[in-house]
Amino acid sequence: MPYTHNTIVKLQKSSPAQTEFYQAVEEVLDSLAPVLDEDSRFCKHSIIERMVEPERQIMFRIAWVDDSGTVQVNKGYRVEFNSALGPYKGGIRFHPSVNASIIKFLGFEQVLKNALTGLPLGGGKGGANFDPKGKSDGEIMRFCQAFMSELYRHIGPTTDVPAGDIGVGSREIGYMFGQYKKLTNRFEGVLTGKDLLWGGSLVRKEATGYGCVYFAEHMLEGNKDTLEGKECLVSGSGNVAIYTIEKLLELGAKPVTCSDSAGTIYQKSGIDVTSLKQVKEVEQGRLSDYAKRHPDAEYISRDNYPKDGHAVWRFAGQLAFPCATQNELTAADAKALLDNGCIAVCEGANMPCTADAADLLLQAKIAYAPGKAANAGGVATSQLEMAQNASMQHWSFAEVDQKLKDIMLGIYQRTRDTAAELEQPTNFILGANVAGFRRVADAMIQQGVV
Ligand code: NAP
Repeated sequence: MPYTHNTIVKLQKSSPAQTEFYQAVEEVLDSLAPVLDEDSRFCKHSIIERMVEPERQIMFRIAWVDDSGTVQVNKGYRVEFNSALGPYKGGIRFHPSVNASIIKFLGFEQVLKNALTGLPLGGGKGGANFDPKGKSDGEIMRFCQAFMSELYRHIGPTTDVPAGDIGVGSREIGYMFGQYKKLTNRFEGVLTGKDLLWGGSLVRKEATGYGCVYFAEHMLEGNKDTLEGKECLVSGSGNVAIYTIEKLLELGAKPVTCSDSAGTIYQKSGIDVTSLKQVKEVEQGRLSDYAKRHPDAEYISRDNYPKDGHAVWRFAGQLAFPCATQNELTAADAKALLDNGCIAVCEGANMPCTADAADLLLQAKIAYAPGKAANAGGVATSQLEMAQNASMQHWSFAEVDQKLKDIMLGIYQRTRDTAAELEQPTNFILGANVAGFRRVADAMIQQGVV
């Protein structure tokens, strides 16, 4: 339709060469056609044009000294995308691939994801093109301090509350929090994903993976099915993947794969999550180390991946959980999954399916949950951490886990009901995009042209 098409054309001119960002925007705008047709207010108030332009974008130099005494320079970002529903909220990513396009796609997705949770959260994202691999603890600390030396002036517990993402876990959050406190002389809930000792929430570490599995459970229940005994393909072996695997095992499913950027593990007997945690969380090792400890596990090095995709999706499994990174599941991978009898794909990562792969999964009408619905458990539990910080309380594991379950059920119901209302009951991309959009758009209209 001309309105959304013109918006994308304008965006490509005003923000050149941001392919991941266009991909995320196009997917959302394609979904919105029926809503824009039925309600002229969105066009009248230029809601689409305003939503695709971040409220504020901060780019900064990060200079720090490595262990050899050499000065290193990286580029930092914080994109404060939309605050119609609450303070900007979204993670920080440290990865060499980080650029403005990736941070903007993540920020844009985050706005709709946070809206879908039903919680009072705006959306933002940040990061740096810094590669934590092979860095000493001292180098990580100095980098985090240098990053926060600029970021601190833009964030605050009621302004913008960052969390972790790829390459940023509780260690990095700790170093960034320490520097924020030093610079501002304030001990406050400015970051989430904090250690339990000083303001963190139980279940935050597990929340994205657990929430993703709770979402999958609801989708299967909707089709009168269960997780019990299902063989699951999981990609990644970081925070989201590990706790997806842990919850799948707990609920009677059998995760048989995981991956990192160097290779994939296939273990027919099921992934040993205790051993995986030891390798990844304690030793910061590689999956090749896991393979050495498990003679029954097959290790496929990245060099031997199929040319048109990823080894992890070429194994047989009924459920797939892409939990590593964007565009890690191609059209050829989606075809392989469908040929092998996959009945559900539940995205733990953000935008892990390429646009062509997503189209194939939608056409096949299998259960398919987009990341902005299925992985929202992390940000939702961050909001629970903020609530505990603000009220100086500390809730039990069971209490937070129950709230996470309730939130994931709410997200599932909102997504399912919106898709059904729009007469495409299996299209959860449509359901999630429209349900999130309506909340943000209504709040923007009520708050005037700002
Ligand atoms: P993480 O702990 O850093 O783990 C990332 C995993 O993905 C690692 O196994 C990593 O392998 C792999 N990976 C990263 N980039 C890759 C690439 N280009 N090619 C192949 N493998 C790659 O990060 P995470 O927190 O689990 O995040 C994973 C995904 O979930 C991301 O899309 C993130 O945005 C999304 N997400 C995270 C949260 C959260 O609460 N953490 C919430 C919502 C969504 P290496 O170790 O070899 O790099």
